[in-house]
Amino acid sequence: MENVQVFDSPGKGRGLRAAKEMWAGDVVFSEPSFAAVVFDNMAEHVCHSCFRRQQKLQRCGQCKFAQYCDRTCQRAGWKEHKQECGAIKTYSKAPNENVRLAAKILWRLEKEGEVVLDTQLASLADLEDHVADMPEDDLKELKVDVHNFLDYWPRNSKPYRVDDISHIFGVINCNGFMVSDQRGLQAVGVGLFPNLCLVNHDCWPNCTVILNHGKIELRALGRIGEGEEVMVAYVDFLSVSRERQQLLQQQYFFTCTCQHCTERTKDDLMMASLDTEENKPSEELVKEVTEFSLETIKKLDQARLDCKYHEVVNLCRECLKRQEPVLASTHLYLLRILSTLSEVLSYLQYFEEAAGYARRMVEGYMKLYHPNNAQMGMATMRAGVTHWHAGLIELGHGMICKAYSILLITHGNTHPITKDLEAMRMQTEMELRMFQQNEYVYHSMREAALKNQPMSMMSEPMAEGVKKLFRKQ
Ligand SMILES: [Zn+2]
Ligand SMILES: [Zn+2]
Ligand SMILES: [Zn+2]
Repeated sequence: MENVQVFDSPGKGRGLRAAKEMWAGDVVFSEPSFAAVVFDNMAEHVCHSCFRRQQKLQRCGQCKFAQYCDRTCQRAGWKEHKQECGAIKTYSKAPNENVRLAAKILWRLEKEGEVVLDTQLASLADLEDHVADMPEDDLKELKVDVHNFLDYWPRNSKPYRVDDISHIFGVINCNGFMVSDQRGLQAVGVGLFPNLCLVNHDCWPNCTVILNHGKIELRALGRIGEGEEVMVAYVDFLSVSRERQQLLQQQYFFTCTCQHCTERTKDDLMMASLDTEENKPSEELVKEVTEFSLETIKKLDQARLDCKYHEVVNLCRECLKRQEPVLASTHLYLLRILSTLSEVLSYLQYFEEAAGYARRMVEGYMKLYHPNNAQMGMATMRAGVTHWHAGLIELGHGMICKAYSILLITHGNTHPITKDLEAMRMQTEMELRMFQQNEYVYHSMREAALKNQPMSMMSEPMAEGVKKLFRKQ
């Protein structure tokens, strides 16, 4: 932790500030989870030790709940699972993810005390729980969890007061960090990372957080001066400031007063209509198309859940036809449609049509996102792969290079996705050279390469990506 120190951030309570100057791509700190659990609905698809998604897993013979890649993962996870294993056996089923996580946290505290590692900057007792701010429905759920916890918690473990247990549930509720699978494409669990909890929010932050080999890394997005506060974004930037503020208030109980919110930076672009000399849509028309777009987006979400991909395509095409003469290329609803349409068309293997939409989406994102935003890096990567599959090698290679340069900063060169991307960058570079020398040879080679290349990036139109930092129901 030599790069940061705890300090009182004006108006925000505690925060972390840089103890020395840092640059884009520097790891500010990395931290293993204090405790982490697999989501209930992922319990049979993800290893409970390394959080990789696997086709085949081996069940723990004792509790018949925990699943592992192999004996190595099971052995590695045993220290954390031992007490849980016994508790699940006695309780005769596994309780929900919140209760499992709270129990794991308390077992670890029991074994190792409040400050587990000498690098941990705050004790769990000091972390915010916001129980007092919770709306009534959430409080009811919390009480149910506490009740179930007390049933589940073994008699021979250290007893806790209801208030202490409520505190842990409150901490999980506002600080539980989404743990993603090995490729960072899907949220599969939730964990607690005490130092990360001290990092405050800014909608236009100077850091990003990424999970790599079971640890989180806080990585600098640009130069950070000595003494400057390090910040991350708890929510995705692509909402207008008022909506981001509402979301942050609802989920994290504070009003964002960051510069981008106070000055409403980029709100105008996100809601802009297409206003050119030849084309001036009336206010009424803009309103009508905006409402139609919102409705379509709702229908899309349902159709995607039902895996009706051709219906998704039709809904998007119809909506896009109405948006195109009215909304600007940076309008959030237009970008939503372009994103869904390109993703689903890629999945259905209509690469050429998908590529056109993906390109427009990336161009829009570039005007809105921070140049080193991880979401934009991932979107650019998907767009690049789509172009490559469509045989648009020059554009494809360019986008893959662009994505690679972003991910080197946001993910680092050891992250599995960056490694994939580097392989793609070399492959497309070779193909591009071949294309420039001899188009015929290029096309026959590409066919062969496509046969060998599993389209792993394209396989999941459902994966919305992990846009939220902390897990909130
Ligand atoms: Zn494993
Ligand atoms: Zn077990
Ligand atoms: Zn803000």
